[in-house]
Amino acid sequence: MNLTTVPQLSVLKAGYPDLKALFFDMDGTLLDTEKYHTQAFLKIGKDYGIIPPHSPEVIHGLLVGRADHLVFEVVKHWKGFPTEWTARDFVNEKNKNLLGILKSIPREKFLPEIVVQLLKDAKSEKLTIALVTSSEKVVTEELLRMGGIRDFFNPVITRDDCPAHKPDPWPYKKALELTGHSPHEVIIFEDSDVGITAAMGSGAHVMRAVWH
Ligand SMILES: [Mg+2]
Repeated sequence: MNLTTVPQLSVLKAGYPDLKALFFDMDGTLLDTEKYHTQAFLKIGKDYGIIPPHSPEVIHGLLVGRADHLVFEVVKHWKGFPTEWTARDFVNEKNKNLLGILKSIPREKFLPEIVVQLLKDAKSEKLTIALVTSSEKVVTEELLRMGGIRDFFNPVITRDDCPAHKPDPWPYKKALELTGHSPHEVIIFEDSDVGITAAMGSGAHVMRAVWH
């Protein structure tokens, strides 16, 4: 099911009477960060004189929903890419740029109030709220803190917590295990094909977030 607007909790509960938990992907679902990831990436290119073989639009498509270390495997072949860089160096540089960009803009630009309201409603109704992201722990924690929403989530499952990553269902199965909920009690919100595949593999209800 595609959601073009953030749903009200009352509507979700009416449709899913067993609902006990909401699991959120972070980038592109909870936070409207995908375009800032692209900007952060393009800034690396500018700062280091890398010449991308694609337009910014194509590059955006390349980045959406894709883990940074996989992006590294593609872009390390681009002209001007620092040959001494490891995936670690690349990811650090991109995360540094991303946090710098987000610090310079108002919160509503990357976290709409309607999303915060859903979190508040879910918390007041004692639903479990989990975050399941392919981003790394350090940047995830910083983004949640910048959004002022860290305390809504338990657990927070990041790339660093998982031996297998989306589209593998492992991260979502881990969230089910940690929260003790059955799949039919959970709605997962995801925006990317990779994330949807992972979510479906867990057996929980899945909704595609196209609200940003
Ligand atoms: Mg996403």
